[in-house]
Amino acid sequence: MAEKLFVEQIHNYVGGQWAPSSGSSYVKLHNPATGELLGSCPAGTAADVDTAVAAAKKAFGGWRNTPVPVRSRFLFELRNLMEQNHRRLAEICTMEHGKTLAESLNSVRRGIDMVETAIGMPTMMMGDALEDISSGIDCIEQRQPLGVFAAIAPYNFPAMVPLWFLPFCIASGNTMVVKPSEQVPFSQHFIAGLVDKIGLPPGVVNFVNGARDVVTRILEHPDIAGVSFVGSSKIAQLVYQGAAKTGKRCQALGGAKNFIAVASDCDWSKSVPNIVDSCYGCAGQRCLAGATLIAIGDAYEPLVAKLKAEIARIKMGNGLDEGVTMGPVISAAHKAKIQALIELGIKEGATLAVDGRNVPAPAGLDKGHWVAPTLFVDVNPTMTIAQEEIFGPVMCVLKAKDLDAALEIVNAHPLANAASVYTTNGRTAREFVKRVPAAMVGVNIGVSAPMSFFTFGGSKGSFFGDLKAHGKDSVAFYTNNKTAIYRWH
Ligand code: NAD
Repeated sequence: MAEKLFVEQIHNYVGGQWAPSSGSSYVKLHNPATGELLGSCPAGTAADVDTAVAAAKKAFGGWRNTPVPVRSRFLFELRNLMEQNHRRLAEICTMEHGKTLAESLNSVRRGIDMVETAIGMPTMMMGDALEDISSGIDCIEQRQPLGVFAAIAPYNFPAMVPLWFLPFCIASGNTMVVKPSEQVPFSQHFIAGLVDKIGLPPGVVNFVNGARDVVTRILEHPDIAGVSFVGSSKIAQLVYQGAAKTGKRCQALGGAKNFIAVASDCDWSKSVPNIVDSCYGCAGQRCLAGATLIAIGDAYEPLVAKLKAEIARIKMGNGLDEGVTMGPVISAAHKAKIQALIELGIKEGATLAVDGRNVPAPAGLDKGHWVAPTLFVDVNPTMTIAQEEIFGPVMCVLKAKDLDAALEIVNAHPLANAASVYTTNGRTAREFVKRVPAAMVGVNIGVSAPMSFFTFGGSKGSFFGDLKAHGKDSVAFYTNNKTAIYRWH
């Protein structure tokens, strides 16, 4: 039985101290499965950002001069504390978000992986050198930190997403202000408590809670060098434009509508459970969810029949309970948005093969936000449900006569985060990987999430910026290349 979670008022963590928001407005937050009150989060103010940025700016000089291996040692401590608290952090993640404990444990594991990779910063951050570029002249290219960065997070991975940024940002010598999602601030509040224990110089890492006003001030603030953002495409674009106005670096990861192409030669017994997990895992609230399936040629009939059978095995409920494989969606508002899109799908002529609307809540959980697994077939690529990100447990199945026709559908979509293909044919796989615009591609893998040492991020309308999250890109994003040319007479 997980210990209850209740934080009456989340405080910010600034300059090594807990501090209440300067504003008086707080939002009450509830467990999306049980309806239990978990606590309240400040709406946040511009003044909160100013205080945190001032602390981060003050810390930067000392921190950037702290030897790189010493910086890594702090992260090593954080990694150990996260490992010791892995389960508790996962429970908090489930209580505030609703996903299953197994999903939370996996996502926290990914967060720990990020810290572990960033510990390698002494090697990751190395530059280049060449002697005698001209007679008696040597050249060194080295990477230097830039100052204060901000990270702005979405609600769907409460523990993990800020960790795509924070470890790489500080290991490379910058300081950071993290703004968790105002819908799920408790995991980051817990992580701030772990950060507090590792003895970092005050101001190296700061957590400021809130919503739009906090983001607006981050974008305007003259002392912030760059912004890492993850969220919907509309806000990602807004953040990218706002950051450009004030000359900041920006990496803005946006929304998704990921396609999965299924060929009739796929290994059905392994593929179908994997596809179903891709779509319905985290109740579809995953930027890598493969929610739009394209059955190639003869694959359509067997695919639909097998999907129905596999979907029937999903057990919806409180993510902390044994045997539950799908939790609720985040809020009543989000449930209403998903249901409206389902209604629109019906109106536009798609066939609802599995109806997840208005299902009874799991026993004792009638205060939760439940949408059961939903399956649309006979979907046309121009329908709203095939165009818009639903971000819920809704799968749409489309038909294509061959691989070229499937690729045409994928390429016509304005978003391109991830894409997958299921096949046993190497040529089909190769063509798919080569020709899809998505930047994260799976072959017989439904959630193609690059690990911490590779780069994460989409393309087209799913990403705004040049350098993506974690891996080598992140070192380039958080540092400036300086080239020094030496001659000693
Ligand atoms: P969101 O865009 O509503 O919010 C993201 C962040 O932006 C939050 O911190 C929020 O406070 C802030 N924000 C919201 N509205 C704002 C506004 N008008 N002005 C300034 N700031 C604002 O996203 P969400 O609903 O929290 O998360 C779900 C979205 O995130 C989905 O679209 C999903 O695909 C996307 N996502 C993308 C990735 C990726 O890697 N590309 C990963 C996870 C989630």
